[in-house]
Amino acid sequence: MFIVFIGPPGAGKGTQAQQLVDLLGIPHVSTGDLLRQAISDGTDLGKSASAYMQAGKLVPDELVLGIIGERLEDPALAKGCLFDGFPRNVDQAKALDGLLTARGTPLDMVLEIQVDSDELVRRLLARKRPDDTPETISHRLEVYTNETAPVLQHYADQGLLKTVDGQGTPEDVFQRIRQCVE
Ligand code: ADP
Repeated sequence: MFIVFIGPPGAGKGTQAQQLVDLLGIPHVSTGDLLRQAISDGTDLGKSASAYMQAGKLVPDELVLGIIGERLEDPALAKGCLFDGFPRNVDQAKALDGLLTARGTPLDMVLEIQVDSDELVRRLLARKRPDDTPETISHRLEVYTNETAPVLQHYADQGLLKTVDGQGTPEDVFQRIRQCVE
């Protein structure tokens, strides 16, 4: 099963994604994690991506699609995976549609976690990641509204979108996610 997991920064996606891949037994593909790994490995990709990430901007599609294309060659992903933090704009979504359709394994479902913006800012300021400063947070939320929210419409048009309320305890949220996938 190929699932896309979408939600604004601070929606608790990372925690929920981990539980969901454990439940479904599929690999977790987080572009944020892959990019952070590239930075800590000191690769060329990491060097190119880091300034964008520090500024809370999207890393260019060409770089992100490169890592996704490479990741999808892994035989462990033959039957499915959970995409987390990808696609983040409509061009990335169309590219992913193309990649998966060419393999004969189209997306099965897109899960959106919804959390209101005051709560998001509160949660993000409580974390300690280097790109969680007040300036980058507000920029990342803006990028989400402008670039990522249209991806939801793209998938709603394909009848793939399911929306989950992300407020409440992590356990509450996971119960809701479970109901969507079962
Ligand atoms: P969050 O959801 O909290 O913003 P992520 O780990 O998903 O955290 O992303 C962190 C940063 O990595 C983003 O702000 C962006 O700079 C970069 N990034 C991650 N995924 C993508 C993507 N699909 N396209 C472009 N940039 C990305």
